[in-house]
Amino acid sequence: MNNRQLFLQHLAQTTDFPLLIEIEKAEGVYIYGPEGEKYLDLISGIGVSNIGHRHPRVLSAVHDQMDKYLHLMVYGEYVQSPQAQLAKALCDTLPSSLDNVYLVNSGSEAVEGALKLAKRFTGKAKLVSCENAYHGSSHGALSVGGNEIFKRAYRPLLPGVTNIAYNDISSLEAIDEDTAAVLVETIQGEAGIRVGSADWFQALRKKCNDTGTLLILDEIQCGFGRTGKFWAFEHFGIVPDIVVCAKGMGGGMPIGAFISNKEVMSVFKNNPLLGHITTFGGHPVSAAASLATIQVLKDEKLIAQVDEKANLFKTLLVHPEIKSIRNKGLMMAVEFDSFAILKPVIDRAIELGVITDWFLFCDNSMRIAPPLTISKEEIREACSTILRAIEEVKS
Ligand code: PMP
Repeated sequence: MNNRQLFLQHLAQTTDFPLLIEIEKAEGVYIYGPEGEKYLDLISGIGVSNIGHRHPRVLSAVHDQMDKYLHLMVYGEYVQSPQAQLAKALCDTLPSSLDNVYLVNSGSEAVEGALKLAKRFTGKAKLVSCENAYHGSSHGALSVGGNEIFKRAYRPLLPGVTNIAYNDISSLEAIDEDTAAVLVETIQGEAGIRVGSADWFQALRKKCNDTGTLLILDEIQCGFGRTGKFWAFEHFGIVPDIVVCAKGMGGGMPIGAFISNKEVMSVFKNNPLLGHITTFGGHPVSAAASLATIQVLKDEKLIAQVDEKANLFKTLLVHPEIKSIRNKGLMMAVEFDSFAILKPVIDRAIELGVITDWFLFCDNSMRIAPPLTISKEEIREACSTILRAIEEVKS
């Protein structure tokens, strides 16, 4: 059997319609197939490869660390240089009130840790999150998700979760003295790129202060430069109590974190109650890759170029079939009338060598989240291919 047949036969399938693109290699903004196919990657493995695939500085950090040690011990017991250096580098990107980092493996695990931390620190159990939110697919993360269709089959989930409308000041009334935490994606990703207003974020911050509720911002998809600031919450003049991140953090290696301050985080070390235990969390190779990723974002001044590149996409992607473009930086949703129109466009664009897709909770919009390293020439190439795909599908 060839790889494609093995994939279909022995790998658990996650959809009836897998993209089924076979990959040989990836480099920068391009992905290559075994027969020399070349694809411009406009989705970055869902917002992961912010600095491009196989960035040389990430590769060299990974190689160097592999020559020293791989896994040694559960997170938090040994002093491992990549973890300590990474924690410092992360804190340097954040306001001084966020100075304590818990390293984990993934976005979902970071959400789990943050929710547990908020419950433990406040001694309260009620959680508030947003409609149409996606925070991951483990039980806790699913419980605070905002899409009933995804949750239905897994009930009973965590009790005491209330979904409120994102970006609606009146909905903040649901946050009260019994609320441990409010968890919000700073920019909603899988809802199809929804951007809240500064007024709403500031009202949310105030409501959390007034009720003794911790504000957790999920920056798993929108962090690490994607929106034109290192952290998306920087756009809105607020500082969360806990921030969760993953995806772009590892430069292509698996790692996540929940970050707060020493006072909040210290509740996790009170024995005999378990805090959060993770065998592989902050794996030293991933931590070394993440440290290099932060350095690349800074040294290559990638974040400062985000708005200009996003505007170029918006200027070029003009067509009667395109109804609107929602974005914050290079986190973009290109809206069509329906999935029936969008899906053939996506399929044709892939045949023409440009990879895009749609969103979990929004299937009439095309996801555009390229590596931030994409050049203006590559943006022109991508947009003309998408427009060509629309024309060909229409005719
Ligand atoms: N939060 C957000 C906003 C996400 O976009 C995702 C992943 N799409 C997650 C959490 C879950 O991350 P992971 O898949 O690494 O568990």
